[in-house]
Amino acid sequence: RGASLSDLAEKIGVDAASLVQVLFHLGEMVTATQSVSDDTLEVLGAELEYNIEVVSPEDEDRELLESFDLEFGEDLGDEDDLAARPPVVTVMGHVDHGKTRLLDTLRKSNVAGGEAGGITQAIGAYQVQTTIDGVDRGITFIDTPGHEAFTAMRARGAKSTDIAVLVVAADDGVMPQTIEALNHAKAAGIPVVVAVNKIDKEAADPVRVRGELSEFGLIPEEYGGDTQFVDVSALTGEGLDRLLEAVVLTADAALDLRANPDMPAQGVAIEAHLDKGRGPVATVLIHRGTLRIGESIVAGSAYGRVRALINDKGENLTEAPPSMPVQVLGLTAVPGAGDNVLVVDDDRMARQIADKRGSRMRAAAQAVGSRRKTLDQLFEQLERGETQELLLILKGDGAGSVEALEDALSKIDVGEEVSLRVIDRGVGAITETNVSLAAASKAVIIGFNVRPTVHAQQMADRENVDMRFYSVIYSAIDEIEAALKGMLKPIY
Ligand code: GDP
Repeated sequence: RGASLSDLAEKIGVDAASLVQVLFHLGEMVTATQSVSDDTLEVLGAELEYNIEVVSPEDEDRELLESFDLEFGEDLGDEDDLAARPPVVTVMGHVDHGKTRLLDTLRKSNVAGGEAGGITQAIGAYQVQTTIDGVDRGITFIDTPGHEAFTAMRARGAKSTDIAVLVVAADDGVMPQTIEALNHAKAAGIPVVVAVNKIDKEAADPVRVRGELSEFGLIPEEYGGDTQFVDVSALTGEGLDRLLEAVVLTADAALDLRANPDMPAQGVAIEAHLDKGRGPVATVLIHRGTLRIGESIVAGSAYGRVRALINDKGENLTEAPPSMPVQVLGLTAVPGAGDNVLVVDDDRMARQIADKRGSRMRAAAQAVGSRRKTLDQLFEQLERGETQELLLILKGDGAGSVEALEDALSKIDVGEEVSLRVIDRGVGAITETNVSLAAASKAVIIGFNVRPTVHAQQMADRENVDMRFYSVIYSAIDEIEAALKGMLKPIY
């Protein structure tokens, strides 16, 4: 989103109204708070003899890291030092086709030696082992099914997935979200392995699934194409070994998944939350290098020294190699999903980078805050019936789930008359601050796997603030969609 003239005015210390005038003379009519294009900013700069360079947040961060002699994500190591790393997989597909069940069954079947009751921890991702041609191979699965989390991270420039497993129920066939998921995988340029699920069912027609997907460019290998289709049952476990094999073979054929394990570690936070006893906890996927206890790290605008590393089986580790999902303890704050994670020389450097990022984020939040005035105006318009907008505040149990929810909400299509806007979001219980913002802006609070504090609940009752709680993204989406559609007729 572009900056506004008042943002620019503040930066260069002039009156916003005069910028409006200058632009007017240049033949462009804009208001002070309206966001303008980068081109307009540059034209304006030239006129005022300012050299305005429009930098994206990504560029800004790159420059920040460069000033510490660091870079993120480019250097995986010299050719001679590269070692194979496991592929990272996201499971996608239409609702009810068995994504969650598939992830559950894979996780359970892989508990050390299949030992019953083995402890597995939901840390946002897990790794399974399979043997191919006598060689042990690992595969990392992201534990949030669906393309929402994956797309939200990609939107932030974080690459978290190497391969997509597209789940299609053999009794239902290709459905709208199947194609949507496929398109997301294509947009990200990642190869797809098709899991034709529910083959235990009477009505299963795996051949039809192959035919349908062929029309969308996924030609099964057995028909001369290059996509692996594997018939599976997430219920009985049938075919899952072959699915794992297909993932590894696809990775070997299409991707060069190697990294130097002996460099300072870099990776991405895929999930993070605040734990009562343990403080900020972030699940990190390492891209390169090996993360070790005692190292100084910076994760988004959080920093700290690695105090503990915990894997998906709840075991404490001393180090985490590339592609291994690991919970990191010891951060000073909760990073966002998609934030990059880097090992740096020492605590001081970690803190300096984190502080710089933090103040940038606050500045950006303030810019949004000053725009909130326009929300009031919009609300007046809404009351006058000129526009209809539902304002939301999202709170969830993890940065990943909040992002996934927001991303899914942004895709609700309700036509021209009404719209939906998320005015605040965050991780943790619903607080009085959230309720007072909701009361002031007449927003609805959505709690995803979180509840209000006692005081927040009392305040919400007093102020008549609408709070709704969900534990499944789809039911949240369904209900909000229904509410928005209800707004077309004034029931709300
Ligand atoms: P998701 O929405 O894609 O995550 O789907 P779920 O994993 O929640 O599965 C939807 C329903 O299908 C659940 O009732 C599952 O138990 C069921 N299911 C999933 N996989 C299979 C399968 O292979 N065979 C059968 N018979 N049912 C399945």
